[in-house]
Amino acid sequence: MKYRGYAYIYTIGCQMNVYDSEKLAIILNSYGYETTDDMDKADIVVCNTCSIRHKAEEKAFSFLGRFARIKKNKPHLITVMAGCVAQQEGEKAFVRVPHLDIVLGTQAFSRFGKLIDAVKSGKQKVVDINDSSMIYEAMPATSCTDENKISKFVTIMQGCDNYCTYCVVPHVRGRERSRTETNIVEEINLLVKAGVKEITLLGQNVNSYGQKEGLISFPQLLAKVNDINGVHRIRFATSHPKDLSDDLIYAIRDLDKVCNHLHLPIQSGSNKILKKMNRGYTREKYIDRIFNLKKECPDIALSTDIIVGFPFESREDFNDTMNLLREIEFDSIFAFAYSDRSSAPAAKFSNQIDEGKKKERLNRLLELQEYYTEKKNKKQIGKILDVLVEGKSGKKRDGFDHALKNMEQMVGRTESNKIVHFPSKDVIIGDIIKIRIENAYPHSLWGHPLGAQNK
Ligand code: SF4
Repeated sequence: MKYRGYAYIYTIGCQMNVYDSEKLAIILNSYGYETTDDMDKADIVVCNTCSIRHKAEEKAFSFLGRFARIKKNKPHLITVMAGCVAQQEGEKAFVRVPHLDIVLGTQAFSRFGKLIDAVKSGKQKVVDINDSSMIYEAMPATSCTDENKISKFVTIMQGCDNYCTYCVVPHVRGRERSRTETNIVEEINLLVKAGVKEITLLGQNVNSYGQKEGLISFPQLLAKVNDINGVHRIRFATSHPKDLSDDLIYAIRDLDKVCNHLHLPIQSGSNKILKKMNRGYTREKYIDRIFNLKKECPDIALSTDIIVGFPFESREDFNDTMNLLREIEFDSIFAFAYSDRSSAPAAKFSNQIDEGKKKERLNRLLELQEYYTEKKNKKQIGKILDVLVEGKSGKKRDGFDHALKNMEQMVGRTESNKIVHFPSKDVIIGDIIKIRIENAYPHSLWGHPLGAQNK
């Protein structure tokens, strides 16, 4: 194919945005733009934005702001703000970035080509933040556009109906809409053909997949994906505690390709705060679900998200969260200090917590979790684990030069999502190999391969 120019895509935010950027790359390809990692070469620059935190939003404006000067010397350059901030700001984005050409909302991707044409034919400041009930069905099916062919995301639903009071997702990504099972399976088949081994099914609330539309349930979808030849591992994110059904627990237990790991955001250990967050479950319900899960899958690795310093969070509420960490012993957590998003209801709550206090609580929480993460990692020493080889390690682990004689330091992941470094000179990226774990660190494991094998 003869390309008419280069496209540079800059992605900020979550896995969903990474996936969306791949879709944008495919649309741009079909429109005659070759994607490039060299921003200087670009004829069109897309910033796929995230509005979940103030910092991410500012990053998007600062990235796009720098093109004011560049466009003076390169007037044909098209600049695009896509995704959540675009959806939230609409026309207002032009006030902060006057040289911006296109504002592309979260539900307007399928109309991107037409917007590019409009700019090319002389139209200025084009905005599309209209709703769409369609997700990706009318867009080109994803195939691989980069060399990272081992592990890929597949969005199974968009939007969210939960309206947690701190979250902008329902406002910027719209109401929950699930893709059809046929469309999802078709996309995964394409990825497998391109060499992908691991699929992560994505959505804001994956375990409510299909409920609204009367499609198959999420555990049934997992079973369909499990049946696809060539898929070796299945992960999914994000699950909502209120929708963790027994059927899903049995699917994790019984489906051989579904990884023995669950990311289940709790957000707070205090019932008072969970209610203010509108999370739809109690601390007791969450613990009960985890208890049932561990009964069926005793070795399951667990991770969670926590927000500290939510409005009204007292010392006792925070201690409830600390005690929950002690009770459950997560393998890892993603913890953040609460920050206001102007379009989310919690921004209007009184009793906002002092920034210093938030920081102090966050540090205490992370310090406590470090103990459990290391404890869980140390438990792996001596075990032989299946590791999916992802590539060469970017960073060499100190003190292992003797083990690396004539070998490369490689990196891979266990089913439980733990990073493993190991020496090897002959493993192939994408192989699943057995590794005896010899050392454990706060964020990774170290071991030696027993011998490569294709699963
Ligand atoms: S479940 Fe809550 S936090 Fe997650 S996307 Fe939906 S509204 Fe936001």
